[in-house]
Amino acid sequence: MGASDADRIGEINASGVVGVARSFRFPVVEGRGASGGHMPCPSCGAPTRHTQSRDKRGAAGIRRDGRGWRCHQCDVSGDAFTLAALLTLGRAPHGADDYRGIFVQCAAVGLCRAMDDATPTPRPLPTPRPAPVVVVRELQRAPGVADFWRACRPVDLTVAHPSPDDLAASWFLARRGFYAPDVARLDLARLLPGPDFTAWPTWWPASWAPAWRLVVPGFEADGVMAGLHARAVLPGATPKTRWAFGCDAGELLFSGFQGVALLRGEALDIDTVEIVEGATDMIAASLRAERNELRRAVLGVVSGSAPALARVRWPAGVVVLAATDADESGDKYAAQIREFIPATVRVLRKRLSPAGKVSA
Ligand SMILES: [Zn+2]
Repeated sequence: MGASDADRIGEINASGVVGVARSFRFPVVEGRGASGGHMPCPSCGAPTRHTQSRDKRGAAGIRRDGRGWRCHQCDVSGDAFTLAALLTLGRAPHGADDYRGIFVQCAAVGLCRAMDDATPTPRPLPTPRPAPVVVVRELQRAPGVADFWRACRPVDLTVAHPSPDDLAASWFLARRGFYAPDVARLDLARLLPGPDFTAWPTWWPASWAPAWRLVVPGFEADGVMAGLHARAVLPGATPKTRWAFGCDAGELLFSGFQGVALLRGEALDIDTVEIVEGATDMIAASLRAERNELRRAVLGVVSGSAPALARVRWPAGVVVLAATDADESGDKYAAQIREFIPATVRVLRKRLSPAGKVSA
C-alpha cells in the first residue's frame, strides 16, 4: 500500500499556490508585505482584476498565507491542488483517472511523490498555457463632450440675476484673484448650464451641477476635446474636483492660454510652454501669461496626464517650464513631466512656493 491520493494532495498543497504556479510555469507575481501575490485566473482566464478599472494586478488574488486563491472576475477559488488540477487537466477532477493524471504530472515536476505502480514515463508536460494577453482597453472618453461644453456658459456674472450657484463660482474666482471677465474672454473655464437645462449627458448627472460648477475641458495630446473636469465652488464640498462619470480621464491635458493651438500644431510665436498642476493653476498661469504679454502657451496636468506629453508636437527651440509646487508632490509631477517630454526639449523646473501661488 503506497501513498494515498490524500497524501499526494497534501504534498502538492504543501508547495503553496505560488510553488505550484511556478512549477507549471504559470505567470504568478509573488506577494510582498501584506499581499499574498496574484496571477491570471487559472479558471476563467481573465488576465487582470476589475476590468472596469485600470488595476493591473492579476485577476486571481492569492491568500496571504499562500494556501488559497480566488478570482476577482469569476469568483472561482481554490487551493494549491485545485490550481494544479486546472493547470494540468483544465478543470476540476472527477474520478480516479483524473486524479491519476494530475498526480503523474505533478510528480514529473517534483510536486508530489511518483506513482507507486509501474507508471510509464509521465506524459510530457503540457505546453504551458500561453500567458494571457493583457488587453489594453481603449480609453473611454465622454461622448458628445464638445456639445456639452458649448451648452456651458461663460464665466460672465454680469447677468441681471446670477443664481446663488453662479455667485459661489464668482466668489471662488475672486478669492484667487481671477478676474471673471478675463477668464471668460480667454475661455479658460465655464459654468455648467443653468437649472432650465435638460440635456444632461449620462456622464454628467444634473445632481452634480450645483456644487461642481466651474468646468474646464480636458484635451487629448492632439488638441481634441475629450473630457470635462469640474471644480467644487461651494466651501467644504468633497471631492474638490470631478471628471465625467464613468469615463477615463487618463492622459488628458488642460489647455490654458494658447494651449489648444499648441496641441493642434498651429504655428505660434512662443518661446516657452508652462506646465502646471491642476485646473486652478492653469487658470492662474494663463491669466499671468496674457497680462504680461509672454510668448507662452500654458498646459495643465493632473495625476495620469503626463504620458500625453510624449505625443505633443513641441515646437523647435521652445523651453518647457515645469511649474509645480515646491513640495514632494510637485517634485513628483516635475519628474513625470521631464520623463515624458522628449529629451531634445529643454525642460526647466520652476518651483512655485506657497507664498507666490494662489491657493488651489
Ligand atoms: Zn476567474
